[in-house]
Amino acid sequence: MIRLQTRSMEATQAVAARVAEWCRGGDVILLSGDLGAGKTAFVRGFGAALGVDEPVTSPTFALVQRYAGRTLWINHLDVYRLDRTSEVEDLGLSELIDPDAVTLIEWGEAVRSLVGPSYLGIVVELGADDDDRQLTLQPVGAWRARGDALAGALEPWTSPC
Ligand code: ADP
Ligand code: MG
Repeated sequence: MIRLQTRSMEATQAVAARVAEWCRGGDVILLSGDLGAGKTAFVRGFGAALGVDEPVTSPTFALVQRYAGRTLWINHLDVYRLDRTSEVEDLGLSELIDPDAVTLIEWGEAVRSLVGPSYLGIVVELGADDDDRQLTLQPVGAWRARGDALAGALEPWTSPC
């Protein structure tokens, strides 16, 4: 478990950019946390770091957006409005999660059982002040091999508590 604290949206995006450096094709990131916590902001920072030069918008209505980065695709999903696993299956998750793409899923906890044994879980929570956020990263499965390196790279934002 890696616990971080950010004090601005830009800081959350800097964290996302650092996480992006440790990603490779086929990776899945499940983002959870309250509405307005900063999940989409994270994806924006992540995409920018991988060379996405078009605006990353909230995919709540489109459900899936696919952006071209420099060397990888970035799939961005928001499954908030899906309340049945069958609807998620209809999205064709297994085809989306290909070796040329990193897939980030907002409200991803709901689809955890569909993404395979390895993913990076990220919970974004509101903090004490307006712009404070707590980010908790949990590398699961094969992601655990990158856990120590990731924790080291994210050291500047490590939460004191
Ligand atoms: P979500 O996708 O989780 O619903 P968004 O990323 O759309 O949330 O919105 C996050 C909002 O919180 C933005 O308006 C952003 O400016 C604001 N914000 C304030 N502080 C932070 C922070 N530390 N990290 C991320 N977002 C922040
Ligand atoms: Mg969002």
